[in-house]
Amino acid sequence: MRPSAPAANSPVWHPFTQHALRASFPTVVHAEGASLITADGRRVIDAISSWWVITHGHRHPRIVAAIRAQIESLDQVIFAEFTHEAAESLAARLIDMAPGGMTRVFFSDSGSTSVEVALKMALGFWRHRGESRPRIVVMQHSYHGDTVGAMSIGARGPFTEDYAPLLFDVDRIPFPAAGREEDTLESLRAILRRGVAAALIVEPLVLGAGGMLMYAPAVLADLRRICATQGVLFIADEVMTGWGRTGSMFACEQAGISPDIVCYSKGLTGGSLPLAVTLCREEIFEEFLAADRRRTFFHSSSFTANPIACAAALANLKIWETEPVRERIAALVARQSAHLERFRDDPRFENVRQSGTIAALDFKAADAGYFADIGPRLQEFFRARNVLLRPLGNTVYVMPPYCVTGDELDAVYAAIAASAAAVA
Ligand SMILES: *Cc1c(COP(=O)(O)O)cnc(C)c1O
Repeated sequence: MRPSAPAANSPVWHPFTQHALRASFPTVVHAEGASLITADGRRVIDAISSWWVITHGHRHPRIVAAIRAQIESLDQVIFAEFTHEAAESLAARLIDMAPGGMTRVFFSDSGSTSVEVALKMALGFWRHRGESRPRIVVMQHSYHGDTVGAMSIGARGPFTEDYAPLLFDVDRIPFPAAGREEDTLESLRAILRRGVAAALIVEPLVLGAGGMLMYAPAVLADLRRICATQGVLFIADEVMTGWGRTGSMFACEQAGISPDIVCYSKGLTGGSLPLAVTLCREEIFEEFLAADRRRTFFHSSSFTANPIACAAALANLKIWETEPVRERIAALVARQSAHLERFRDDPRFENVRQSGTIAALDFKAADAGYFADIGPRLQEFFRARNVLLRPLGNTVYVMPPYCVTGDELDAVYAAIAASAAAVA
């Protein structure tokens, strides 16, 4: 067995990790269902779906089999002016499932990249139409990824400070906090009246990395309607909210809306392999159609539409079709809400909230925010109890794979309840 903690001589630089504060990390050797098994034999409950990607559980047999089968015939192929069956079937199926009006599927490999693609589609669309609409409108506290364009349209703060000179300016509407929704809508109307906005991009219903902030479907519908009235493109970043997280397949469904451009990733392959797509309406695709090759959509990455990842995504769709995933989600939604109930009157917590399978609550802490001291202390507490939770500052959230068992979820909430006393 390999050591559970790679020694300080590991050359690996980990993401979102302050190496000065953590010398070693658990080595995960195996995963199944909602569990991670470490080299030192611990079974850890993956209560955040390995950073929001795993939907049906780790190593779902159908996905594993699809990956095996695909690699026997085609591993990787250039996707410019070539195609393959896995990508073709996947694109066709995604168009069938997505909100109405989407007709084109552009492949990439990460949520951030799918957002960059969406921005480039929107900017190109207006430029090819000969209109000067260079501005992107975003929501306060939003997160769209860590590449430079995605950072530009996300919340600014310590995460982005070092790169400020590279980030482009955007227009921001306030988060539609309960009771203040009209401020958000009015701000959007005022910005759009200037006539220079190319698109509004939002995380529908739940702002994930911004602290699991939630707003009502009616607000999402209003935002969409205002964009439509002003002829401004509406981009839905469903990278986190897609694939059942908010209770419906896609969050936009709850608002009864259809965006102009939508981004999916994370749960697209059930979380097994990196893959992302950006879907758009025909009008957008058409603006890039011309005998003049300068109007081509100039975006690609080496692994665009990797066949193995596409096969994994097709297996994911098959699971949605053939297994009672919706029933599993409904059961999880009910259990999450029952667990949350006991925290509603607990004076140590506030903002107890839920959107579908996602549950979140805030520790009442003197110092709130991502860098609140309480965050790392909580994480340490959960780690000792073999529960993988990764609080966002004083916000604890539970976003498990849909196969999580009742016992596992009980253990997660027992840990949260105990943590309140331990870190107080
Ligand atoms: C995670 C996330 C992204 C970025 O996805 P990556 O695959 O990490 O690049 C973009 N948007 C939202 C809403 C996300 O939650």
